[in-house]
Amino acid sequence: LIVSCPESVQLSVSEGLSVAVVQEKELLCKEFLSRPKQLLIDGKWVNSVSGKTFETLNPATEEVLCRVAEGGKEDVDKAVKAARRAFETGPWRKMSTAERARIMLRLADLIEKHADELAQIETLDNGKPINESRYVDVPQTVETFRYYAGWATKLEGETINANTNFFTDTLREPVGVVGQIIPWNFPMLMLAWKWGPALAAGNCVVLKPAEQTPLSALRIGELALEAGFPDGVINIITGFGADSAGEAISHHMDIDKVAFTGEDKTGKLIVQASTSNLKRVSLELGGKAPNIVFADADIDAAVKGAITGIFFNQGQVCCAGSRLFLEKNIHDEFMTKLTERIGKMRQGEGMDEKTHIGPQVSKEQQERILNYIGIAKGEGAKLACGGEAPAEMKKGYFVKPTVFTGVNNDMRIAQEEVFGPVLAVIPFGTMDEVAEQANKTTFGLSGAVWTRDVKKAHKFASHIKAGTIWVNCYNVFDPAVPFGGYKMSGYGRELGKHSIELYTNIKSVWVNMMD
Ligand code: ADP
Repeated sequence: LIVSCPESVQLSVSEGLSVAVVQEKELLCKEFLSRPKQLLIDGKWVNSVSGKTFETLNPATEEVLCRVAEGGKEDVDKAVKAARRAFETGPWRKMSTAERARIMLRLADLIEKHADELAQIETLDNGKPINESRYVDVPQTVETFRYYAGWATKLEGETINANTNFFTDTLREPVGVVGQIIPWNFPMLMLAWKWGPALAAGNCVVLKPAEQTPLSALRIGELALEAGFPDGVINIITGFGADSAGEAISHHMDIDKVAFTGEDKTGKLIVQASTSNLKRVSLELGGKAPNIVFADADIDAAVKGAITGIFFNQGQVCCAGSRLFLEKNIHDEFMTKLTERIGKMRQGEGMDEKTHIGPQVSKEQQERILNYIGIAKGEGAKLACGGEAPAEMKKGYFVKPTVFTGVNNDMRIAQEEVFGPVLAVIPFGTMDEVAEQANKTTFGLSGAVWTRDVKKAHKFASHIKAGTIWVNCYNVFDPAVPFGGYKMSGYGRELGKHSIELYTNIKSVWVNMMD
């Protein structure tokens, strides 16, 4: 399955900018929303030790969707104990890898069976357009579990002909108890990226979803129990990061590995905390991707790619193409086409099928983005469109799709991650100039090049210091293709076989064959 970008940004040309209204439609997740939201520890749903709960909001309406158990340090301790027991003495390690694969496949089937309900949960909790939840998040989640279920039966060690006096082989073993801390931009997909390889390799997990979007993980937790994961293999602690459940995971002495996706400054704290027991860490952090369009490119395709690059998921994407480098002689033509197309994007509630761009996830994010817009104006960038919250939206954390031209790569708007629908357009004259500027960033998660010249494409693909390069496309993903960062975008590769490396240890065994 290859998901390139999504219906929501493939604009139907007949539609003008308008405010979408939620259509009456069966709310499949109503029953789920009304149930208590507890922590999943040792195969059971339980309240937090403190008894505390927190609200999760619909960012399109600012209404409370439901309350969720607020896990803290003691709950993390309980979950880690359960995971440790499940790992050391439970049936999970003893069962055949084929059985492990079957349970993972059953979970994938159950997610698929409840696809519409899960898509609604994701859209209500995160705000993203329902067509993105339906056609990107849910199917990619399913495919990720299926892909990694396949890996469970294919893990191997090796024999090494080092010395005839010894029989030497390697065993590939699970690392043990894994803490996984995920963000709010792709809640269920990040869960799948984390659980898939960890479970395939035989680990037991303690997951902390982001406090803004805890719901899809809880629903998938229910489906995981139905799929037959033994008690303690999967634990879910909803709650906060700093001074709370997230921090407890990163400091925990009995967690063998932490996988984290989120902000770079949180990533640094996770690394510092890991020194408590020198647990292994993998990090997928922010980005400030260069999206480079040469004059010889298919301009219409590049315009669509620029839109996908920055407005998909309201710009809340770590690999967003937030720096658009345009060759000077196509700059004006490109900008005309780009702003015309943006003008046709419908902004509204994610639950409306016609919505192309929904609200930001929270008030905090909306304010942060509007603040960056102010910074860009102050730096002298020229506003081509957007630049504010839409006045017609009375409720919700919306920011209009925003483009700045005349940006200089040294400006803050070109260097700092905005994590919103804000594009910085930087004109360039020569190949050398853009080659230098593309890498002038502390991040290195992704980049893209638009050109019909194969040689130029390959040159830039190897030149850009980033973990993923797209040529004449943007935001294309597949569970089999690795994803991760250079520089301050983190380390370790998720997806593909590389993710298995994150969740396994290699043990060398020497057998004395001498008489
Ligand atoms: P954002 O600022 O975009 O929400 P974060 O990096 O703060 O990104 O959040 C990503 C995940 O990290 C969330 O699950 C959050 O609760 C968690 N988190 C935040 N701060 C910490 C921390 N100090 N230690 C561990 N986890 C944290």
